[in-house]
This record gives sequence, structure tokens and C-alpha cells, in this order.
Amino acid sequence: MSEHQGGFSTRAIHAGQEPDPATGATIVPIYATSTYTQEAPGVHKGYEYSRSGNPTRTALETCLASLEGGERGLAFASGLAATNAVLAGLLKPGDEVVASADLYGGTFRILEKVFKPWGLNAKYTDDPSIAGFQNLISPKTKMIWIESPTNPLLQILDIEALAKLAHQNGAILAVDNTFASPYLQQPLKLGADLVIHSTTKYLGGHSDVVGGAVVGATELLAPVKFYQNAAGGTPGPFDCYLTLRGIKTLAVRMDRHCENAIHLANWLKAQPTVERVFYPGLADHQGHEIAKRQMKNFGGMISLRLKGGADAAKQFLTRTHLFSLAESLGGVESLVCHPATMTHASIPLEVRKARGVDDGLIRLSVGIEDVQDLQNDLEGALK
Ligand code: PLP
Repeated sequence: MSEHQGGFSTRAIHAGQEPDPATGATIVPIYATSTYTQEAPGVHKGYEYSRSGNPTRTALETCLASLEGGERGLAFASGLAATNAVLAGLLKPGDEVVASADLYGGTFRILEKVFKPWGLNAKYTDDPSIAGFQNLISPKTKMIWIESPTNPLLQILDIEALAKLAHQNGAILAVDNTFASPYLQQPLKLGADLVIHSTTKYLGGHSDVVGGAVVGATELLAPVKFYQNAAGGTPGPFDCYLTLRGIKTLAVRMDRHCENAIHLANWLKAQPTVERVFYPGLADHQGHEIAKRQMKNFGGMISLRLKGGADAAKQFLTRTHLFSLAESLGGVESLVCHPATMTHASIPLEVRKARGVDDGLIRLSVGIEDVQDLQNDLEGALK
């Protein structure tokens, strides 16, 4: 079966994962080898050295490309290694990136602390509408970089409209699709040029492996592929195996994440101690209508503010039992996070506060446990 045939789950389980040609192993083996024996100099079976390529990684890259509906996938040792390769491979000093202001703290850090000194300028818009981006675009803009939903405020950005805006201005649109996963949203089909993932999150799905990925057209990815081989940042075969193993159940996990999250978002909204709930599935959410159009469902992430502000948030964060206080997201187990001191701590205080990521903000990664137990846990912590 070709890697592009079949429905989403069929491809998640089979794309790039034919039985092993050497042994018939049904599951892609962990090719724990750094090098490959050649018959004669340059005569080999497609692999020479595992930084350049490894069969377990090829299986993962093929599967990711299939799930995102892209020509080519590249796997990395982390989401930020993927981001780094995209920025360094496709842009040059003097270019400009226009990004949504609400984005993962590590992405902001790499743009500000690694790429700005290198000569790549980044501008950020607080306004998630098209006008917000349009106002910042200049002839130097070569890339628009967004997340949707964004981390941590769960804003929804109109991918189709932003792709058009980027193309009208000679730029490309890169979408970090980590929060949605390819099951809920496929940005390339909406006109985006590149999809970036922290596969550490929903794709891996079990909080046991760190990884990243980029998917797009082969030609566009050629310099990223070159950079990957030239600079490294590649995942080992065991990490690729774990990620592939997680991907097989992505669809069923995502359905449950979404089901649990909408239940908890509605329940939280009705609690007297809760001031605000950020969840794209709520009808009064800023991007609800766009989310309905471009996503299959609304995802497993919720952010909230409590009426008691930062003090109440601090207490809440240490009072949950099932929701572990931890960085990261997208695993089967529920996590609670304090973006201001954890995932977004690398953003300077004033910038962070201006963006609404203050000490009172709480972020939940809703797992796939029994929803009543999760609700009870939150109820206990709110008391
Ligand atoms: N993108 C988003 C939206 C993230 O939340 C993260 C990490 O939390 C990353 C990228 C970076 O991924 P990694 O931690 O795998 O490097």
C-alpha cells in the first residue's frame, strides 16, 4: 500500500512501515547502527551513516509526511532542533520573520537570542487577525511563523488567510502544528508551506521521548535537509521507534483528549472561582468559528485564570493530584503548568506580562484518564 492511501489511522499505522525487507519483522526494527557496510566504495543500500539517514528514521519521516499530506518529512532530535533547521536552512541574515506574539517561549528565545544576533530580525503581533500580520510585513519579510492553537493562550489563527497573505508578499507560511497534531489540522492543505512539530507532545503521546519534525514540499525542504545533515540534531533510532509507536494510536487518543477537554472547559467555565477559560471549543472563544472551519475538533489544551489571581493560581498548582505539575503536554496523562515560571520563563517579564502570560495564568494538558476523575481533581484544587 502506498503511504498516501487509506484513512488517517490506516496511514498512522502503516505509512512507511512495510514489513522489514530483511527479516519480515512486522514492526519497524530499531536500526541501532551508526554506519552501513558498503559492497564497494559508494555502493550501498541507500544508507551510509546514521546522521545522514537511518531506516527507523525514514519510516517515521515517511509516516509524518503522509499524515500531514506533505511530500517530505524530516525528523529531528527535538522540536527546537526542527525550528532551528528551518530558520537557519531557509533564511539568511537581513531577512525578517513576522510571528504571532503568543508562541512557545523556546521559539521566542531562539528567535531573540540565537537568530537576532545572527542578523535575522523577528517582529511579533499581539493581534491574531490578518491585519495584525499585514501591518508588520515589509519587503524583508521572508516568513510568517505561527502556532494555532497558540501556546499558551490558545488563540486561533486563520491559516488559509495567512498563507495567502504570505504568498502575496513573497514570503512562506510556517505553522507549528504541535497543539493540534495532524489528526485535528493539516496546515499544508490550507495553503501553508511548512509544518513544524514538537513530536514530544501529541505525536509521541506518552511523555517518554523528545523529538521534532518538519514537513513540506521536497524542493522547499532541500536546504533544511542539507542543514540537518550538515549540522546534526537528528533523532536516534530508539526515539524514532517510540514516536512511531505513539503515532499508531494518535487518532483514538486525540478523540479522547478532545472529549475530556470540552467537558472540563465547560465545567470550569461554570465554577464561581474561575475568572476566564481559554478553549477554542467554547462558543465565545476569539477563534471559535475559524477553529470549526480549519480543525476537526478543538484539542486537549485549556488555559484559565482564577478570580483570586496569582495567589490563587499558586495554590491551585500544588493542589492537584492527577494533574501533575510539569512542563510539556500532549501525553496520555494530565499535566498542569504555570507558563510564567515554566514553559515561558525565558520571555522577559515585561514582554510576557504585556502578552497576557502573567503569574495568574494556568495551562492544562488534559489527558485521556476518566473525565470524572479529572473533574474531581480540579474541583478539589479549586476549593
Ligand atoms: N512548539 C511548541 C508549540 C511547544 O510547545 C514546544 C515545547 O513545549 C516546542 C515547539 C519545542 O519542542 P521541544 O521541546 O520538543 O524542543
